[in-house]
This record gives sequence, C-alpha cells and structure tokens, in this order.
Amino acid sequence: MKFLLSLLTLVCLAALIVAQVPKDPFPVKRVETPETWRRDGWAAVDRAKATKPILPKKGKPRNVILFIGDGMGVSTLTAARILEGQLRGESGEENRLSFENFPYSALSKTYSTNQQTSDSAPTMSAIITGVKTDEGILSVNQNVVHDDYRTVKGNEAKTLLEYAEEAGLSTGIVSTARLTHATPGACYAHTADRNWESDADIKKKNPGAYAAGFPDIARQLIETPYGDGPEVVLSGGRSKFMTFDQTDPEYSDKHGERLDNRDLIKEWVDKKGDSKYVWNQKDFDKINPKKTKRLMGLFEPSYMRYSFDRKNDKAGEPSLSEMTAKSIDILSRNKKGYFLMVEGGRIDHGSHAGNAYRALTDTIALSDAVRTAASKVDLSNTLIVVTADHSHTLVIQGYPARGNDILGLVRQMDSNGNLERGYHKDKLGLPYTTLSYANGKGYQGETDNQPAGPKKCCEDYKRAKPNINGRFNLSDVNTDDPDYLQEAAIPLTGETHGGEDVAIFAEGVNAYLFRGSMEENWTFYIMADTLGLAR
Ligand SMILES: [Zn+2]
Repeated sequence: MKFLLSLLTLVCLAALIVAQVPKDPFPVKRVETPETWRRDGWAAVDRAKATKPILPKKGKPRNVILFIGDGMGVSTLTAARILEGQLRGESGEENRLSFENFPYSALSKTYSTNQQTSDSAPTMSAIITGVKTDEGILSVNQNVVHDDYRTVKGNEAKTLLEYAEEAGLSTGIVSTARLTHATPGACYAHTADRNWESDADIKKKNPGAYAAGFPDIARQLIETPYGDGPEVVLSGGRSKFMTFDQTDPEYSDKHGERLDNRDLIKEWVDKKGDSKYVWNQKDFDKINPKKTKRLMGLFEPSYMRYSFDRKNDKAGEPSLSEMTAKSIDILSRNKKGYFLMVEGGRIDHGSHAGNAYRALTDTIALSDAVRTAASKVDLSNTLIVVTADHSHTLVIQGYPARGNDILGLVRQMDSNGNLERGYHKDKLGLPYTTLSYANGKGYQGETDNQPAGPKKCCEDYKRAKPNINGRFNLSDVNTDDPDYLQEAAIPLTGETHGGEDVAIFAEGVNAYLFRGSMEENWTFYIMADTLGLAR
C-alpha cells in the first residue's frame, strides 16, 4: 500500500513536471533567407502587373457567389490562418486562407444608420440591398421603426436575390445558421425585427404584429413574390418551418414551432415539380444535382453544428464545402446564370461564446468552401466575393515568438533573440494567452465560466487557483482544448461584435472593382452590376 502510494505520488509529480514544460513553437518548415524574401516580393509585383481585370463578356452567363463569414474580423482571419498552418505542424504565419490568394481586396465600413457597431441584420441588409439601415431590421430602409410592423409596407428594400429571381436567374442560400437567421433571412425577407423567425416568435415578442398577421421570416421565404423563389436552400433551422404538432425527424424530444399549422417544408416542395427535401447527410449525398432542379436541406432544428462538432451529429450533416459544391452544380444548370449566398454563420457564435477554437475552425471551413467554389466555376463569367458582415473583439496580443501556438500561452524572445525558457509573465507573475477577447464569458474576475465536465482544460482550470486581482494561473491549463474560453477583460454574458472595418476579397469577373476603403453597401452595386441588375 505504502509502495502504491509513493508510486502514485511519483506519477502525479511526473505529470506535474510534464505539464509545466513550456510548449515549443511550431517550426518554420519552408526555407526563409534574405534572398527568398526578395524573390517573393518581386514575384508579387510581377503577379500584380500581370493581373488583368476580368471584364464581363457580352451574352455570357454571369454568376455571383457571395461568401459571408459572420463576424469574421481581420484578427479572426489572422488567427485562423495561423491555426490552419499549425494544424499541419507548421509555424502558421506564412499560411494563407484560400481567399487570401484572391487578387483584389478592400476594407468595408460596417456601421449602420443608427449604431457605430452593428449586428448582422443591418449589415447583411446593406450588402444584399445596397441600402444601409437601422439595427435589428431586415432588408427594409431606415424609415422602418424597429419592432413596428406597421412601418414596413412601402419601405422594403429589394434584395439582389429578388432582382435575380425576377430576371429568371437561379438563386441559392447556404448557411450553417438557421435559414431564418439574420444573414440568410435578409436575402428574402423584409421585416421590422430580425427575431420574427416563426409566427411563434412574433406572438412571443410582439402580440400586436402577431394579431395583425404580419408574415414571419420563414413564411416570407415560401410566399416570395419574386420569380419562383430560391432554387436551393441548405442550412439549419427546420423547426421554424414545421408545425407545432410535427415531431423532429432527428430528435424525438423536439418538435416544430409553427402555430398556423402550416407545414412550410411540404409547401416548398409542393410549390414546383422536381423539388427535393433532405435533412441528413445520407439523403443529401444521394441527391443527384443533374436530376434535381430545386433542393431544400434543413439539417438541424436550430443551428447546424460547428465544423469541429459535425462528426458528433446523430444523422450527419454536410460540410459547408459539400453544400456549396452541390448548390453550384444545381444552380449552374440555369444558362441565364445564378446568385448564390454562402454563410459561415457560426464563426460569429464561437466568438460570442468566447470560444476562439470554434470561431477559427469554422473560419477554416469557410476557406475550404471558397476553395471548392473557386475550383468549380469559370472565373471569366463568375464573380466570387468573400467578406464579413461585422467584426468581433478577438485580440492577438503580446510578442509571441514565430510559430508560437496560436491558442497557447505567450512565449517570447529575450533581448538576445533567444526563445525565453518559460512563458512570458504579466505584472502579477502570471502567463497569458496570445488570444483574448475584449469582453464576454471568459472574464476571470468573479466567476468561472469555463464549461464544466470531464474536459481537461476545464478540470485544470478549476484547479488553477484564482490569483491576485482575479487572474488565474494558466500554467497548467490546456488552452488548446476546443472548449477553452479565452480570457476577457470585461465581464459580459456574451462577447460583443467589434466596430472596426472588415475585409473584402474578390476574384473573377468584375473583382477589380473592389478596392480601397468601401462602405459596406457598395458591395451590392458591384454584384448587381455584374449581373446586369437593379440600375
Ligand atoms: Zn453576432
């Protein structure tokens, strides 16, 4: 017994010692010399000189694919590109997300008509209608009063998807959020509150609007007066389209939420022949795009899974790449052209939760989807735009060494240019991570918001004693754990959006029109001009 105890102590001690060894940076795997920096620099100049703007050709089909990384600010792009490289065992800084190789880019100013820092409703409305508007409202102009349904009529702002439908083009919406959520919803719905996703939502939030029969966002998709509505919709959010009495096909304890007893999924399928509905990976895989004209896929009652959690889904869900590829295959059957909007909707949710891991891995998933799209289309007649609706408060701080684990603690170089032996310490003598949020759940001052459970990060975290001034000692905490919440300076229930500009990346026909500092709504006009619409 005594022997066992001392063995146990030894093992524990060994584990402690192992845990305390600072993590070394990932190695720079490519060759970097003064000569390679010069060579790469001149190559970039030559590449830029050789890049000729792709102008629209007459009579050719013209397509636009718009990718929105919801909440994908510039610091999120930087951290995601480093993480993608480090997941391959490389230093990461030199890595490029797929769209970072696009030849044209610009900055986009994301303020709304009444807020400095915006939510997804006015920002996507600006991108998709060309008209900036107030917070919380979808594809209506700023004369609409938030939450007042009576002000909507006559103030609707027509969306690019609606213009495209009217002109006989095919249209599609892909999102990992709910189909009725702000970004996808702004493509087809006009409403005084982004939260009026189902009639049950309206009843709860505004009984007056409910009594007046104001159409909820899900209903507006089915009742769109423009063309025959989108040909492809792939996302989460099926509960908004199912009646209260309908049991969810994937989760027997869940049901639809519609009070009007309308089965909107069936209505969508019945609206036109050759329409298919799927809700799981197997049925999605079976869809032959050559034989399908219209496809609705609703893969979760609410949001789809984060890319990292997709493997745990009961019925399986397609990836953003798979949904993008199938959409392009179906939409490109229309020789007149198409408009497709693809949203990485949960980048935003990862950050709101204070969980950089999921925000970054969903950003990588969006990059994969963009790569898939760019490899499938003819760039001489297709414009691809990648942007974000707004930023988040993710911060990349300290002076971490090259290749330092982007999710890890800061380890920096000493004044002699050598890697310091331990982690860099703050004024309290505590190490800190490179990534943090300015506010949110990761605040350590009062409460421990780290998710409970048998997760290593969080068990370690609970053992890490609160130190002076409220900071925890993170020396033995696995901050690489997918569930770890980055530290936040200000305690808020949910981390907020950030107000600085976001980036726009463009490739293909008319991509050269993206340049300089742009107002967010200008993106609409470049896309509309490319499709020959709306002027
Ligand atoms: Zn958000």
